[in-house]
Amino acid sequence: MQVEIAEKLHVVFFGPVCVVRKFMAILKVARLGNPVLREHAAPIPPDQIQSSDVQRLIEDMVATMHEYDGVGLAAVQIHESKQLAVLEVAENPRYPRKPQVPLTVLINPSITPLTEEMEEDWEGCLSIPELRGKVPRYKSIRVSAYDAMGAQLDFIASDFHARVIQHEWDHLQGKVYLDRMRDFSTLTHLQELTRFWMDK
Ligand SMILES: [Zn+2]
Repeated sequence: MQVEIAEKLHVVFFGPVCVVRKFMAILKVARLGNPVLREHAAPIPPDQIQSSDVQRLIEDMVATMHEYDGVGLAAVQIHESKQLAVLEVAENPRYPRKPQVPLTVLINPSITPLTEEMEEDWEGCLSIPELRGKVPRYKSIRVSAYDAMGAQLDFIASDFHARVIQHEWDHLQGKVYLDRMRDFSTLTHLQELTRFWMDK
């Protein structure tokens, strides 16, 4: 299913390259403290998903995520209070050695934990620059959403894939990863992460 999505997006984003590139924009990322990050984002009516406004927003969000080496970006992070998130895990200098996830667009997503088991691992956020902290997340979740073209998605994600989706879903509820940390003893600047925490 994800391969199909990636192929569709390839057409949408990279088909007429000269046309698409002309209109893609790198958007300003809202940082912690901006009230938009604390809003509960509004659903996108399914019949508006294929509108030029939503399609352009998706293209700009993907370009912005790539520009800042993010593995995910929620619309609230670029000041649009909408239930829309994009994610992709490829070779990424901010998250080296992570399993790859194809470019995925989630609109009006809902998630259901498939296990009570939670796992702690490092997370960062483009809206909270230069920091990392260990965050507990469900290891496996079921995800329902619309894709970039308005088709219904229903899939299971686990481990880092599930972590990224839970992080983005939280953004759409007005939460950030700091809210999920059990305590702040692992909260660290990036330089100190590589210096003191790399093996932990
Ligand atoms: Zn984030």
